[in-house]
Amino acid sequence: MNVHEYQAKELLKEHGIAVPDGHAALTVEEAVAAAKKLPGPLYVVKAQIHAGGRGKGRFKELSAEAKGGVRLAKSIDDVEADAKEMLGNTLVTIQTGEEGKQVNRLYVTDGVDIESEYYLAMLVDRATGRVAMVASTEGGMDIEDVAHNTPEKITTITIDPAQGFMPHHGRAVAFALGLSGALNKACQKLAKQLYGAFTSLDCEMLEINPLVETKDEQLLVLDTKMSFDGNALYRHPKIEEMRDETEEDPAEVEASEYDLAYIKLDGNIGCMVNGAGLAMATMDIIKLNGAFPANFLDVGGGATKEKVTAAFKIILKDPAVEGILVNIFGGIMKCDIIADGIVAAAKEVNLSVPLVVRLEGTNVAKGKEILNNSGLPIVSADDLGDAAKKIVAEVKQAA
Ligand code: GDP
Ligand code: MG
Repeated sequence: MNVHEYQAKELLKEHGIAVPDGHAALTVEEAVAAAKKLPGPLYVVKAQIHAGGRGKGRFKELSAEAKGGVRLAKSIDDVEADAKEMLGNTLVTIQTGEEGKQVNRLYVTDGVDIESEYYLAMLVDRATGRVAMVASTEGGMDIEDVAHNTPEKITTITIDPAQGFMPHHGRAVAFALGLSGALNKACQKLAKQLYGAFTSLDCEMLEINPLVETKDEQLLVLDTKMSFDGNALYRHPKIEEMRDETEEDPAEVEASEYDLAYIKLDGNIGCMVNGAGLAMATMDIIKLNGAFPANFLDVGGGATKEKVTAAFKIILKDPAVEGILVNIFGGIMKCDIIADGIVAAAKEVNLSVPLVVRLEGTNVAKGKEILNNSGLPIVSADDLGDAAKKIVAEVKQAA
């Protein structure tokens, strides 16, 4: 789960980490009131969307010369003018895709005089099974380019979870950023605090870009992105409350209400599968047959009629879906019950695209009989390979 920059900074502040003062605003009036609470004379008006690259982003509704989604303002009047231009408009950044994201929220912060910009991030590194800290002197807006063109400018330091954060990790980070004296000490302390925040909040990623050295030699977190392990959210009700569903894919939000694991993808074959492993295998085999999955969808072990119906509806809402492949193993839930669910759901949603169903497991013969006698144009498949071949052929034929 992702949160907005202003929320992430609140969490960091609670861990004793220095961030510029600021206030979130939903309206132009609130933005002005927020600026009035700050000392000035430099303010920053920042679009709050769940995507980075805002500074270099462009508003769809504004001219190409208009400023992006992070704006320096030199007076309260400028803050007001910027807020008017930004709120309600659509910001397109390198991370949003062409459709962009509507800006519904701003963060007005105290402007900082920057001496240097650094990059510092932490993430769970699957290869080592450890938290990796990634540091670079090339902070600012183009870290993707740095990673691509000059990877030697990026240092990765991994932390053994059994040992935890040790002073030498802090020294390694400060060294990688080329810091000396008081700043070096401050960086060591910051790295330790960040690791504490990362582990205690069950983060998946914590990125600071830029981490800045100010003209008066302070180390400050100027921008941050945090994401959290969804499976650990029950331990953090406060973070759960920070969820902004308007930033998420509406189909994914609906799916989570039914406890379905759904992720939208770019292909044309909708998948309904039980179990994450089987879902992955189904996606692979669709690709192997020359087509692309429209989604990942795990209906879970207990695939009830209600869940199956909800899943059908969510899949069919995607206009890219030209066919559906249901691949369910009846273990906990028997195949005949699942077949009943599929038939009822297909009738209820008025299925308009080809449907291939592969059932296996307990009572599979009964299940297939129900599908065959349903009067619906359901194509039954015997195994995974057969199912994938059939749905790809059906979609091609329909096209
Ligand atoms: P992003 O583009 O979404 O990553 O947004 P950031 O918050 O990182 O802002 C982009 C850039 O705007 C930063 O890299 C800075 O160069 C600049 N910026 C942001 N806040 C300030 C500030 O307080 N003072 C100055 N001088 N520049 C800032
Ligand atoms: Mg940034």
